Amino acid sequence: MKTGTVYLIGAGPGDPGLITVKGRSILERADIVVYDRLAHPSLLQYAKPDAELIFVGKSSAHHAMPQGEINRVLVERALSGKSVARLKGGDPFVFGRGGEEAEHCKAHDVPFVVVPGVTSAIAAPAYAGIPVTHRDAASSFAIITGHERDDRGEAGTREAGAAEGRRNWSHIAHAGDTLIFLMGVEALTEITARLCENGRAPSTPVALVQWGTWPAQRVVVGTLETIVAEAKSSGITPPAVCVVGDVVNLRSKLQWWDDRDFWPLFGRRILVTRAREQASGLAESLRAEGADPVVFPTIQITPIPENESLARAVSNVRTYDWLVFTSVNAVGPFSQALADHNLDARALAGCKIAAIGPATADVVRSLLGIVADFVPSSAVAESLVEEWPHKDLSGCRVLLPRAAQARDVIPDGLISMGASVDVIPAYRTVPPETEATELRNLLLARKLDALTFTASSTVHNFVDALHLQAEPELLDAVNSATIAAIGPVTAQSLRDYGLVPSIVAGTHTIPGLVEALKQFFGTNHP
Ligand code: SAH
Repeated sequence: MKTGTVYLIGAGPGDPGLITVKGRSILERADIVVYDRLAHPSLLQYAKPDAELIFVGKSSAHHAMPQGEINRVLVERALSGKSVARLKGGDPFVFGRGGEEAEHCKAHDVPFVVVPGVTSAIAAPAYAGIPVTHRDAASSFAIITGHERDDRGEAGTREAGAAEGRRNWSHIAHAGDTLIFLMGVEALTEITARLCENGRAPSTPVALVQWGTWPAQRVVVGTLETIVAEAKSSGITPPAVCVVGDVVNLRSKLQWWDDRDFWPLFGRRILVTRAREQASGLAESLRAEGADPVVFPTIQITPIPENESLARAVSNVRTYDWLVFTSVNAVGPFSQALADHNLDARALAGCKIAAIGPATADVVRSLLGIVADFVPSSAVAESLVEEWPHKDLSGCRVLLPRAAQARDVIPDGLISMGASVDVIPAYRTVPPETEATELRNLLLARKLDALTFTASSTVHNFVDALHLQAEPELLDAVNSATIAAIGPVTAQSLRDYGLVPSIVAGTHTIPGLVEALKQFFGTNHP
């Protein structure tokens, strides 16, 4: 059997957008993904659905897999022919023990590849508005380990390594104009004292950046003299980067990421209740705005196996005058059915296409290569019927592939205009078997700032999954958060259950919903 490769991949400091293109594409192909807590969990969405995911680092050292064990897992899996992505926070060779993992691979003749990453040493200060060098403030920087007993950022309890044993503070204190300590929170008292003893002025500015680049980022600023007290009073715990030097003063001018004037959604915890397959688009847009999306996929889109009615409709597709897509979800199964019949978009040459919502029209263009003939101004079924380009549809044949259960507004409307409409189930929406307990607890503890609903089906399933109607206390908790609906139909479904939407997006799309949230939190809630 051919030995697999171990890929030591830098996951970046947290913000999932900071993984490299190469790192992500390897992740997409790996059989095994070994990751720890500093790699953002949403990166796992890029892994193959059947990839084995191995978590090796809890925040407490007791629950972390010891380094020796990690080394063993990497080599063992590779020797069994699997490709192994070892996803490490920041850069794998900056205090990530990546060097040791590579040595272990080498010792067992396992080929390895190193994919450098964006290190928290530079990125966390950057997201705090602190450039590590600056023409007027610092012409060099040094990255130093704070030498905590256990480096909780990565897995494993460890003793100081040989290099750390030889540390010389008179040298470290002047190793660069800017000094950047990783794993420094617990040793902060010692670090600041040693730097002062060795000639750095007690008034030197210091910043601690906790969870840098994450929506949970917190920054505390002080001096070598005051930072220990500041850190204690604000309760800063690992992971945090400690930056020492004049560049820290630039934050007062350059603060950007953790600034709610710029990013009204920064740090807001927002529930995303889309189907799992669709959740990532909304979650990613929210994350790009600094929010912390909590994904609760209330519906799952599943294909209909051996869908004979779709097969029949597709084989007769030339007999239809119009093809109507009411959701992105129908386009995939339809185009697959075309392909199964050895057909392509030319089979639709005589057929016009209507699509509800710009997102659906986009998917029609990308999957079928066809520009939709008609997209109603508002992404709801009623608009499609009202704005239909012809009023007399007598003799007109319409094909409507859509969810197995859906409202009858479109078929009823088109039939009343004289059309004959074939409604074909193209996919199913089913409630997923998700553990609702975690969400329940978040809601009861009032830990969510907002809840988003992108379709009536997500409302029904959310209410079902939480048994909301049987529990008035939980209903109150839900109503105490800001509830956002993508449009009027979804808003009405919420009201039907006693849920009160404070946001109804004007444009009924994901970007429209995100914009409405930004406006709400920007103006109503500074
Ligand atoms: N290889 C990593 C560092 C691993 S050591 C890198 O290049 O970033 C773990 C330490 O990194 C933590 O104790 C903390 O000091 C720092 N760290 C990692 N991610 C961080 C983040 N998002 N914000 C602040 N510090 C972080």
